[in-house]
Amino acid sequence: MKTRDLQKLYLEFFSSKGHAILPSSSLIPENDPTVLFTTAGMHPLVPFLLGNPHPAGKRVASIQKCIRTPDIEEVGDEVHLTFFEMLGNWSLGDYFKEDAIKMSYEFLTSKKYLGLAKEKLAVTCFAGDKDCPKDTESEKIWLSLGIPKERIAFLPKADNWWGPAGLTGPCGPDTEMFYWAGKEQPPKKFSPKDKQWVEIWNDVFMQYNKTPEGKYIPLKQKNVDTGMGLERTSAILQGKSSVYETDLLQPIISRISQLSKNPNTTSERIVTDHLRAAVFILAENIPPSNVEHGYVLRKLIRRALRHSRLLGMEESFSQLATLIINQYSQQYPELSKNKSFILEELSKEEEKFRTALEKGTRIFEREAQILKGKIISGKIVFDLYQSYGFPLEMTKELAREKKLKIDEQGFNDLLKQHQELSKKGAEKKFSSGLADQSLATRRLHTATHLLHQALRIVLGAHVQQKGSNITSERLRFDFSNNEKLSEKQLKKIESLVNKNISQAIEITYKELPLDQARKTGALHFFDQKYPEKVRVYSIGSFSKEFCTGPHVENTAQLGKFRILKEEAVSSGVRRIKAVLE
Ligand code: ATP
Ligand code: MG
Repeated sequence: MKTRDLQKLYLEFFSSKGHAILPSSSLIPENDPTVLFTTAGMHPLVPFLLGNPHPAGKRVASIQKCIRTPDIEEVGDEVHLTFFEMLGNWSLGDYFKEDAIKMSYEFLTSKKYLGLAKEKLAVTCFAGDKDCPKDTESEKIWLSLGIPKERIAFLPKADNWWGPAGLTGPCGPDTEMFYWAGKEQPPKKFSPKDKQWVEIWNDVFMQYNKTPEGKYIPLKQKNVDTGMGLERTSAILQGKSSVYETDLLQPIISRISQLSKNPNTTSERIVTDHLRAAVFILAENIPPSNVEHGYVLRKLIRRALRHSRLLGMEESFSQLATLIINQYSQQYPELSKNKSFILEELSKEEEKFRTALEKGTRIFEREAQILKGKIISGKIVFDLYQSYGFPLEMTKELAREKKLKIDEQGFNDLLKQHQELSKKGAEKKFSSGLADQSLATRRLHTATHLLHQALRIVLGAHVQQKGSNITSERLRFDFSNNEKLSEKQLKKIESLVNKNISQAIEITYKELPLDQARKTGALHFFDQKYPEKVRVYSIGSFSKEFCTGPHVENTAQLGKFRILKEEAVSSGVRRIKAVLE
């Protein structure tokens, strides 16, 4: 059965049972600032589940587009997607357990509808605990329909309960329906842990109100809220072992596998899923950014890009995105309406990330190699996030591939600090250079010391620092010298700096009283006022300089030094711009 037919049948079935059909709501919840995305069909219905009368009546059904970012780590398996469609039917104070379960069962097994084999069905029910009784009502209904005892499993609140955790309000048990997707015949006894049993549908029964005292009082208006995964059910109906093989996703993934030079199922699935999710978020007119929805979107696009690189895909995402837009436009016209926005934003983000990814990955690899330890510091993780746009999850994933751990707590602390600073509007004060402790600037700061000394060796001891400016991208160093530097001199300077980098020299500093510090012969400005105590930074025996830091720990962290430009600033002062690659 085609996915489109499944959608049609579902709506037809529930319409024949007196349900009004509602259109899909936006992926961005309209009146709920507590969540970023619509995660289930019930989301837009919350006010009505809480008792406001719905204009369409007490029975409604819909096909709702959903985003579930918490499932991102599971994408790559057979059944979890970050974007999926949910088929749902609701009773707003109308029918309850018996009718709901009977309708679910009829739709699943009737030859007129899905005609699934009863012998391959299994269900879970709520096991009960000290606060709420076991859901024997649902059990009885299933038994009456012919589901054997061995195919009914009882699970605690963690699995079979719906309600805002720890909060007050409507809540209740649910019953989940599973279908056997294994090649062999299903075992007699159902075990929800066996991945060959795939959860396809969930009927939630809102029957209690949790009071602030933690009591569960029966609700006056009892509701039913159900959700069936479209892609999962399609896979079952089409006899496929994963959602990616259905008529919905197959055209996308097969195009991706045609474009890959190093085929890998997990990466192909991740690109398929994330790109589809990104297209749908973009269709809501949300551009990639570093906050909220835009950040989730950026994370999805960047993760897709990283995996497309692992696959050796060279084409831009534009062609694939067009494929997705065309495939879904009939059902979701917002896709074709916003097609140019979607494609433009996607390609802008691709371009941004291409540059950042190359630099960031090199930094990561270097750190991973130098560290040799097991934990990548929160500072590095934060820097990759801040300067190179690496989402935390991506660094985690890179680390996992290299069997390293990351200091996530450290990262979170820095992120918090950073957010507080931004909140105070203090960015200006801290962007002056020295307070910027990101790895990118620390590396360039250390490179500046090496350059300073190299200039003195190649050009002569008359060279003095006249100015320095570092951004996370490049260094700029002004120094006294009359003539333009020759190609040969520049090459010499470059290779002297690179020689020191390749020697992996440790950077150390000493805190010394000013007069003692002067005696070390460390470079400093003669006409500048210094405090009574200063820091002298040494790079082995090569360079010694007064400086407040911060620097990297070892020159090996610098990578390759390259001079971009040499020019005059004013008479007797030259300027070098250089980068680390
Ligand atoms: P699972 O335990 O498999 O993650 P769930 O219990 O989180 O599923 P529900 O919240 O009950 O799922 O959602 C209702 C239905 O939506 C599920 O029965 C399933 O068919 C579908 N569904 C849930 N999460 C996903 C997902 N990440 N990708 C595709 N379909 C999903
Ligand atoms: Mg889940």
